[in-house]
Amino acid sequence: MNCPYCSYCDSKVIDSRDVNEGIRRRRQCLSCGSRFTTYERLQPASIFIIKKDERREEFNRDKLLTGIRKACEKRPLPTGAIDKIVDDIEAEIYHLGKSEIPSTVIGDMVMERLKSLDYIAYIRFASVYREFTDITALKQEVDTLLSAEAEASQPTNQLPLIPTEQSAGLAESHRRRRK
Ligand SMILES: [Zn+2]
Repeated sequence: MNCPYCSYCDSKVIDSRDVNEGIRRRRQCLSCGSRFTTYERLQPASIFIIKKDERREEFNRDKLLTGIRKACEKRPLPTGAIDKIVDDIEAEIYHLGKSEIPSTVIGDMVMERLKSLDYIAYIRFASVYREFTDITALKQEVDTLLSAEAEASQPTNQLPLIPTEQSAGLAESHRRRRK
């Protein structure tokens, strides 16, 4: 890296420390003596996604973002919530330390996060990802969500899947059925 002041091509490192997943170095130009800072970041090697038909495709953050955005379209979500999911998943993928990851693993990561963020987005994503071919499979998934919601001791901050009155009745019938 050339000196930003005189463009000289060499510098010495006078201090170096770890900063979130990178290294910060204080440098001094060997020609003019000016000090400047450089940051080194780890650039992970490419990760390939193994698709259902065994084809490999390079992991693409934008593609993941697009898929999640589509599921979350017009949902009242806090700003940055979608980006946070993508950041989390990307970090988790790199932490696995594998060069190839089945698409199902990533699909499950998305499902898990959407489930705690927004049920509607979750159902939308699940219906594409799990390829719900009939209404029964979809209904089963919704039923599972509803019974989990009824079981939760703490109220979720999510909008109910169905209007409150109905939802209360349904939760009640779920409870009765279990007794
Ligand atoms: Zn210089």
